[in-house]
Amino acid sequence: MYLILLGAPGAGKGTVAKMLLKQHPAAHISTGDILRGNVAAGTKLGLQAKKFMDEGGLVPDSLILDMMKGRLAEADAQQGFILDGFPRTIPQAEGLGKILVELGIELTGVISIDVPEQVILDRILSRRTCSNPKCQAIYNVKFMPPKVEGVCDKCGGKLIVRDDETEEVVRHRLKVYEDNTAPLIQYYEAKGQLHRFPGESSDAIVDGVNAMLKK
Ligand code: AMP
Repeated sequence: MYLILLGAPGAGKGTVAKMLLKQHPAAHISTGDILRGNVAAGTKLGLQAKKFMDEGGLVPDSLILDMMKGRLAEADAQQGFILDGFPRTIPQAEGLGKILVELGIELTGVISIDVPEQVILDRILSRRTCSNPKCQAIYNVKFMPPKVEGVCDKCGGKLIVRDDETEEVVRHRLKVYEDNTAPLIQYYEAKGQLHRFPGESSDAIVDGVNAMLKK
């Protein structure tokens, strides 16, 4: 299974990815997680990426494509992958196409998760993330609170509002999504690879993906 998950920030890509991974062998590759790991570790890539991330903008395509060329060539990605947060621009999609040809991998499909903007704003603004870079577990103070306020159930780390999850930055990220990433819906539709799902129920999306995989 070689899938791309498309959807605005907060559409539920990470949740759907984790549910699918319980049923299918695949690597969960989230460019946001990899970048945050690099920022926390203070790598050269992390230093280059941080200012774009803090402003809610996109990290330049060349940096992302170099990073993903390496990541997709790793052994765990050969048996399957779920791409979460990549590609985010048409040049990234074109670059990914080339990388996959080199690796001899054919995409199984592109899943677009459609969620209204107001729902997304509500979701992201109540989100808290574990500050431990190795954990990054996500909670929601309204729908999925931790057992102890401000503390990660899994590792005991401190829960924080990410720098890029304040209202101003989230509104900017949604605009960046509309301008740069939403055009990928037409791009993959034209290739006959797109499957669209409303974002209300992660279970329904997983069922839809499983039905697609059986075809
Ligand atoms: P995410 O966790 O996927 O929402 O990503 C957090 C931030 O990382 C984004 O707002 C971007 O600044 C950056 N980022 C993640 N993936 C990409 C990508 N494929 N292209 C450019 N920037 C990215």
